[in-house]
Amino acid sequence: MNKQTLLNSYLEQIGVSLDGGRLCALVAYCDAVLEANKKFNLTAITDSDAFYIKHIADSLIGISEIPEGAVLCDIGSGAGFPSVPIAAARADVSVTALDSTAKKMAFVAESCKSIGLDNLKTVAGRAEEQRSLFEKFDVVTARAVSSLSVLLELGMPLLKVGGRLVAYKTDESELQDVRNALKTLNAVHINTKFAKLPNGDGRAVLVFEKTGKTPSQYPRQYGAIKKKPL
Ligand code: SAH
Repeated sequence: MNKQTLLNSYLEQIGVSLDGGRLCALVAYCDAVLEANKKFNLTAITDSDAFYIKHIADSLIGISEIPEGAVLCDIGSGAGFPSVPIAAARADVSVTALDSTAKKMAFVAESCKSIGLDNLKTVAGRAEEQRSLFEKFDVVTARAVSSLSVLLELGMPLLKVGGRLVAYKTDESELQDVRNALKTLNAVHINTKFAKLPNGDGRAVLVFEKTGKTPSQYPRQYGAIKKKPL
């Protein structure tokens, strides 16, 4: 089976259908990450098969939660997950990949250019320090970045009122820890999408809505956020 057919079969299993051009772009992106991985550590996953399931299919589980035409920021994007698969699958969405590691963002920018993905840009920096981006986004995504409580403080300031934070998790267990964070930051949990990856792993995409402005004392500096999560 060629790579495109294999990726397509995994995506069909999670209910996502992409045209040949987009599949081809994602296959090329995976090849670029796996190649770059030999030089610097971007991911622990080193074969295409596992990569398609754990990075590409996983990243696309959340796309049903992204409204048409959304302006989206992916916090802690790393090697481009879920931001790059989302941008490739949804030409209507304008994506900003944000990560504190400049080297990773340089890799993502260069690789997206080489596969012709023009609806994604990168920003190197810490989410809590991006004042010029506060209240600019309809959707914030994040996968494998921090605890949910920390993530809510990092993500809510970036959203417009009415915008959504889409958190990629394995289950809903952290929900019980974020009641205070939600109340303090003016946010509510509106949905959880449960899904199974083609390898049987369970995933939960938790969706939160920003119901009012983020109080001006948030986000705090990262040290304070980590030391005393809301
Ligand atoms: N989302 C990617 C990478 C996860 S690793 C994936 O699922 O594969 C976590 C990433 O978050 C790292 O690249 C780290 O540099 C970044 N990160 C952690 N805290 C951050 C912050 N406050 N602002 C921006 N990036 C952050």
